[in-house]
Amino acid sequence: MLLSDECLNLHVPRAQHGHTRLDWRRPHQALERVRHVAWTCSCRATVYELCEGGGQAFIRRTVQLDGTPEVRETSPCSIHEAGMIWTALLSGQAR
Ligand SMILES: [Zn+2]
Repeated sequence: MLLSDECLNLHVPRAQHGHTRLDWRRPHQALERVRHVAWTCSCRATVYELCEGGGQAFIRRTVQLDGTPEVRETSPCSIHEAGMIWTALLSGQAR
């Protein structure tokens, strides 16, 4: 049974030992009209979004600090590859 105050949205679990370290870069403007395909819950300080655009995809990470949010993105790759990275992220196998 879930506790009544438990949030039911997507959350990224604790990273597993030996997880893949993703290459987080400063945001680039390469992809126009980015579509958000999936995202994790904003109840956490760090929010991840799976973004698609122009036949490519990447993961965006936003850390909600006290001041300006810190945004980092993985380099664009195929939608298939980004989907696998997203799955690894949500299972604690990549971070
Ligand atoms: Zn939540």
